[in-house]
Amino acid sequence: MGPAGSGKGTVATRILDHFDMRHLSCGDFIRAHIRDNTDMGRQARQFTQKGELVPDDLIAKIMTEEIKKRHNQNWLLDGFPRTEKQAALLDSLDPPDSVIDLDVPFSVIVDRLTKRWIHAPSGRVYNLDFSPPKQPGLDDVTGELLTQREDDKPEVIKQRLQGYHAWESKLADYYRSVI
Ligand code: ADP
Repeated sequence: MGPAGSGKGTVATRILDHFDMRHLSCGDFIRAHIRDNTDMGRQARQFTQKGELVPDDLIAKIMTEEIKKRHNQNWLLDGFPRTEKQAALLDSLDPPDSVIDLDVPFSVIVDRLTKRWIHAPSGRVYNLDFSPPKQPGLDDVTGELLTQREDDKPEVIKQRLQGYHAWESKLADYYRSVI
């Protein structure tokens, strides 16, 4: 866990280079639903566009399906849980063994997010400063065009970071008390 832009996806990818685990990114699952224009994707989009959290009921549907598919496998969750309700859901499905909390100053985050580019179909993330693509604007693996996320605009970033304090810092306290 960590605020938007703290590097959850990047750190996850580095961990996966060394451990045999599946990367389950809640944001990637949501974006896949939006891209496929599913019922859940259409509902989620109204919130992600504004930088607000997607309601717990909808996240519960998406993540229960994904976690149940991987029961008894090793996984690394990224971006889930983000609220106490989601943590309770995870405890009822498959409680985590460890939690990593990324602590990065907000000024650093804003700078990073405005320089973030992604390969939408795979979820691969690049940063123009510290992990640039080999060829400007193109994905290293497929050579396809990179894009910027619609929620990486400065006004939406501000909203996402404010939301983080309200919800997720409580969650860090919860995990400090149980793990
Ligand atoms: P970031 O961590 O950079 O905000 P994510 O890709 O994890 O990016 O999430 C993008 C957006 O998807 C969030 O701003 C939020 O709207 C939604 N989202 C992702 N995970 C959750 C979650 N666990 N609960 C509610 N909304 C979520």
